[in-house]
Amino acid sequence: TLKFEDVKHLMVDRIPSRILNLLRLIGSYGEDKKMPVYVVGGFVRDLLLGLENYDIDIVVEGNGLEFAKYASKQLGAKMVEHEKFLTASLFFKDGFRIDIATARTEYYEKPADLPQVDISTIKKDLYRRDFTINAMAIKLNTKEFGLLYDFFDSRKDLKEGLIRVLHKLSFVEDPTRIIRAVRFEQRFGFKIEEETLRILHETLNGGFLEKVSGQRIRQELEKILGEREPLNAIKRLAQLKILKHIFPKTYFTSVMEKKLENLFNNLRIIRELYKKVNIFYSLLRILLEYYDIDTLKQVIKKYGIPKKFIDEIKATETRLPPLLNMIKYKIRFSDIYKVIGKPSAETAAHIMSYIDEEDSKEYFVEYLKRVFSTKLSISGNYLKEKMNVKNSVEIGKVMNELYCRKLDNPSINEEGELKKILEDET
Ligand code: ATP
Repeated sequence: TLKFEDVKHLMVDRIPSRILNLLRLIGSYGEDKKMPVYVVGGFVRDLLLGLENYDIDIVVEGNGLEFAKYASKQLGAKMVEHEKFLTASLFFKDGFRIDIATARTEYYEKPADLPQVDISTIKKDLYRRDFTINAMAIKLNTKEFGLLYDFFDSRKDLKEGLIRVLHKLSFVEDPTRIIRAVRFEQRFGFKIEEETLRILHETLNGGFLEKVSGQRIRQELEKILGEREPLNAIKRLAQLKILKHIFPKTYFTSVMEKKLENLFNNLRIIRELYKKVNIFYSLLRILLEYYDIDTLKQVIKKYGIPKKFIDEIKATETRLPPLLNMIKYKIRFSDIYKVIGKPSAETAAHIMSYIDEEDSKEYFVEYLKRVFSTKLSISGNYLKEKMNVKNSVEIGKVMNELYCRKLDNPSINEEGELKKILEDET
């Protein structure tokens, strides 16, 4: 049963005026074009929760493309159309963006197999969404501006903190919603509603998650990694046995949990050192540890991970035990360098996930910083020309030795040290 609620006062109080004005304008264009327009989804949910969210999704009952064209003209915004979906995005000069869609009945994930999209009503549009809390709309047309449309008792679920699907086949229709349920549950500190949880397990046991492409699973996992507390969601995925259906050979133990905790705690440091770190790969480095090569090959193929991932994970696995001891006993940087050299961001994160003691962690971070800052001012050419070393293997060896000495002692005189190395060699 449809419930209405006037939430205009909430909008006025909580939405920045610039965005509020934009919503009013969009409503007035709805009047001009005689089309009902709504803001829907996460924006509405977060407005009611009192959370900031400026991802504006507009749904139009009628031709959304025609509406988008009109609005873009009136607003002086650039429009990008996705004709097949009957959707469009408007881009403002400052980079702000809104999405406009035509109300429709089906939820399509893969653009490629898009059949005819039928123009529909807002209720049917909301019904195809994932959970009740994401299935509310606020009317924007001037006369009804700020009227909340609640068809599925979403408001109640939001108040009670429940993640509930809209119908029994929801998870079968799109099994990625299983992962989404956990993400929203953990983000808001909600609970997956009882019947929903039952259907979730039924769908899992039916093997439906296994049918989903790696790319779509990866997308949902990456969204979890973008959350404020990803570990909670990952723990919950393990607890509900969802993780087993994604990575069947992973055993989620307290040891693994501790490593993941370290990983997430260390990400800030890793990001400071390396500009880019792939968190998804870093997560998999831990989840896929000690997998056999054949399974690893299947996994990287499924998730579109580069082949060198396998080499890196295997190399780290064998080097870890000696390496951790070297770090623990604060062995010279040059000796650590001989074991791992300059590790990739993901390898560094992997190693650090094993380090629980604060001073060992500091020592390893010190090592990484040293490796980043140590550069030789003397080149191999200098050796060739000034010191008459012609053999390139020899040059490489000598340069490496010089670099190692500088790692241990940044203030060495490179030229003097070079002479010593050459003397020792002969
Ligand atoms: P976030 O705060 O993470 O952006 P969101 O609710 O905006 O949350 P999106 O993934 O951006 O999440 O999706 C936007 C809206 O589209 C959702 O509110 C939901 O109603 C709908 N939606 C997204 N993915 C699905 C799906 N797999 N099945 C059904 N509806 C979906």
